[in-house]
Amino acid sequence: MLNQGVLQEFTSIVGQERCKTSREDLLTYAYDAYVHEYVPDAVLFPRTAQEVSQIMKVASANNIFVTPRGAGSGLMAGALAKQGGIVICFTMMNQILEINTANRFAVVEPGVVISEFQKAVERLNLFYPPDPGSATVATMGGAVVMNAGGMRGVKYGVTRDYLLGMEIVLPSGEIMNTGTKTSKDVTGYDLTRLICGSEGTLALVTKIIVRLLPKPKVKRTLQAIYNRIDDAGTTVAKIIEAGIIPATLELMDKMIIKALEDFAHLGLPLDAEALLLMDVDGDPETVEKQAALVADFCKAQGARTVRVSQSEKENDQLWVARRSAFGAVARMRPTCVIEDATVPVSYLTSAIKKVIEISERNRVQIAVLAHAGDGNLHPLVLCDERDKDEMTRVEKAMDEIVDYAMSVGGTLSGEHGIGIAKAKYLPRQLSETSLKMMRSIKKTFDPLGILNPGSFLEYQA
Ligand SMILES: Cc1cc2nc3c(=O)[nH]c(=O)nc-3n(C[C@H](O)[C@H](O)[C@H](O)COP(=O)(O)OP(=O)(O)OC[C@H]3O[C@@H](n4cnc5c(N)ncnc54)[C@H](O)[C@@H]3O)c2cc1C
Repeated sequence: MLNQGVLQEFTSIVGQERCKTSREDLLTYAYDAYVHEYVPDAVLFPRTAQEVSQIMKVASANNIFVTPRGAGSGLMAGALAKQGGIVICFTMMNQILEINTANRFAVVEPGVVISEFQKAVERLNLFYPPDPGSATVATMGGAVVMNAGGMRGVKYGVTRDYLLGMEIVLPSGEIMNTGTKTSKDVTGYDLTRLICGSEGTLALVTKIIVRLLPKPKVKRTLQAIYNRIDDAGTTVAKIIEAGIIPATLELMDKMIIKALEDFAHLGLPLDAEALLLMDVDGDPETVEKQAALVADFCKAQGARTVRVSQSEKENDQLWVARRSAFGAVARMRPTCVIEDATVPVSYLTSAIKKVIEISERNRVQIAVLAHAGDGNLHPLVLCDERDKDEMTRVEKAMDEIVDYAMSVGGTLSGEHGIGIAKAKYLPRQLSETSLKMMRSIKKTFDPLGILNPGSFLEYQA
């Protein structure tokens, strides 16, 4: 609990309206997209880096734990006050400060919603590719510290690939800049990349500089339906092996197809085992050729139908399936845990088969969704957290999925991060020396250990 004196200091920085302490307000910020509840002692909504700095000075002087938060769409409990203290929510720092068309960069505050930013730059014929499934709610700040990936990773990479610099506030309250507005910069250590993916454990991001691309002139969406999921997996591997780089390459299995039909009635065939959704984009001639090539690949690998969109409107219609997938599946059981293990793409088919085998053997319901072109699996584990026996089997199934990914040279997490959900697996991928280096970096930034305590680095086996 915060004492009244400290609370008064916080209130004097942001005002009564932007310092929430009622039980109802605190409960609203006690969840993210993970399954646990952690109620903070207060939630503050700063509007400037100076306010963030003052808050951190008070927090440091009084040893108050601080958890940064964007939209709370993170899947690993990163935005939750796991050991109490205050939450600093960035949703009121939501201005696009500059879109520079001559030099193709933009400067934004951390609370800008990703899809709003994408629309703003697209109006100027520019393009910001990172596109997580949560883009209509997730913030630029949350995406930066999680190094969010998403649908277009296969061609365009992830958030890290577009970051040029940042303004950050250190736990001590000092304000600091990293990077520049230039496309090249090798001045000193690359602290921008260090903060990117740091899961809110090193510093608070108060301004972000990103590079932009010219907007692709045309996009075509293809939907291929398969009787056998193996054939869909093989199609993905063959497309990548052939050097064709679609902008997106998403896979959904039969459980997701069924959930989508129940939810959105899209006319998908319920007897199909898998669906691939792909975009190709670029210049009109190249796009036509690539779309035809990808369609041929799908047919050659046994797709029973391949639909190629003919308009922007049809692109959007085909994408409704993917955009609705999490929501549709999450309705099926009280709890939905999203896995994120990632394998080299040539192992995609074996990985999917392995997940199905693990699911059946452990009697756990798992639907498979994947950013397939990146080998990034999203097995959606459907369960009921109140059922102890079922949760023991879920734990075992998740354990086995992680082990499989490790055995083929994959990673614990392709994009959702580690948080508390996956902390126990860290030693399976990182050596004790790597962990020691990471802990000493954390100590340098945050010697008092007040920023996002209880995060992945503090897990002890
Ligand atoms: C339906 C759904 C689909 C998703 N799809 C994808 C996907 O395709 N790809 C993907 O990568 N992720 C995906 N995610 C996960 C999540 O949306 C991303 O991690 C996103 O980047 C989190 O942004 P946020 O604003 O919600 O951050 P939050 O959840 O609020 O916070 C995430 C982390 O960032 C820290 N943080 C937030 N803002 C700041 C700041 N300004 N300074 C310092 N630390 C900060 C928090 O402490 C926390 O550790 C999905 C989630 C859902 C629910």
